[in-house]
Amino acid sequence: MGKEYDVIILGGGPAGLTAGLYAGRSRLRTLLIEKSQDGGQIALSASVENYPGQMLEGETGVSLAARMAAQCERFGVERKADDIQTAELSGEIKRLTGGTETYEARTVILATGASPRPIGCENEADFIGRGISYCATCDGAFFRGLDVYVAGGGDSAVEEALFLTRFARKVTIIHRRDQLRAAKSIQEKAFANPNIRFLWDSVAVKAEGSDVLDTLTVRNVKTGELTVIKAPPEDGMLGLFGFVGYLPNTELFADQLSLENGYISTDGEMRTAIPGVFAAGDVRVKSLRQVVTAAADGAVAAVQAERYLAGL
Ligand code: NAP
Repeated sequence: MGKEYDVIILGGGPAGLTAGLYAGRSRLRTLLIEKSQDGGQIALSASVENYPGQMLEGETGVSLAARMAAQCERFGVERKADDIQTAELSGEIKRLTGGTETYEARTVILATGASPRPIGCENEADFIGRGISYCATCDGAFFRGLDVYVAGGGDSAVEEALFLTRFARKVTIIHRRDQLRAAKSIQEKAFANPNIRFLWDSVAVKAEGSDVLDTLTVRNVKTGELTVIKAPPEDGMLGLFGFVGYLPNTELFADQLSLENGYISTDGEMRTAIPGVFAAGDVRVKSLRQVVTAAADGAVAAVQAERYLAGL
C-alpha cells in the first residue's frame, strides 16, 4: 500500500487529463492511472478540428492528447500505467487495485471512456489485425492501394472513411440505413469525395479468408439479398473498419453504481450516487460525447472533488 491521494483519476482521455489539470492546479495530491495510451477515443482519431482554439495544421488526436498530458503533469499530477482489476468505491477511503499495487484516495474520478462496439459479423474476432480494424489512424497505412470497407454511418465512420481515402484504392461505407447519422458538414465532404462509395441498407454479416480477410459477405436489410465481395486476386486482401458506436467501460463498477444502458448516471456536477465518486466524459450518461464536453466534465469533476474534500 502506497501513499494516500486526495484524488485518483481513472483514465487518461480528455476527461481524465482535464480533471488532472484542474486537480493539480488546486494542489490536490493527484494520481492519474491509465492502462495504455493517453487520449482515449481521440488517440484513434486522425484529426481533431472541432475542439475550440484547435487550428494547428496536422493536429492528430495523439498530438492533442500529448499536450493535454504535458499540461497536466506540469501541475504535479503523478502518473501510473496500470490495469485496475477491482475498485472499492463505497468507503470513505476508495481503493483501486491493479496488477501489483493498491491505490488509495478519498475521492475518485472515473473517466474510463468507452471502447469500439464490434461490427457483429461472423468470424469477426478471427480477423482482427488481419483485415479487420477499429482504428484508421493506427492501421490505415496497411491498406495502401487496397479496397477498404467501413461499417457504420455516424461521425466516426464517415470521418475515418475520409481519412482512409489517403491510403485505399477506394473506400465503401456500409450503412444499415439509407441516410447517414454523421454531421452534415462531414457528410458533404464524403459525398464530394470520388473515392468514397456507399452500400446503403446493408450490414456486413460474414468475414472469410484463409489467412487474411479476402471475402466479405454483406446483407441488404430490406431485401435480405446477400452479396459476396472478394478481394481482387492481385490484392489478396480486403480491409474492414468498424465504427458502429461504442460500449462504455464500466464493468468494474457495474455492481456499485447506478448505470443507464451501461453508462454511469451522474448529476450535473459529475457526482455519482456514492459520495466522493465522480464520473466524467464518455463513460457517463450524456447527450453529446465530444472532446470539448469530456474536458468540461473533467474540470467540473475535479472542482467538485476539491469541494467534497474541503467538506470532510
Ligand atoms: P454513433 O454516432 O453512435 O454512430 C454509430 C453508427 O453505427 C450509426 O450510424 C449506426 O447506425 C451504426 N450502427 C450501430 N450499430 C450497428 C450495427 N450493429 N450494425 C451496423 N451499423 C450499426 O457512433 P460514432 O460515430 O462512433 O460517434 C460516437 C460519438 O462521438 C457521437 O456522439 C459522435 O457525434 C461523436 N463523434 C464526433 C466526432 C466529431 O465531432 N468530429 C467524430 C467522431 C465521433 P444508425 O445511424 O442506423 O443508428
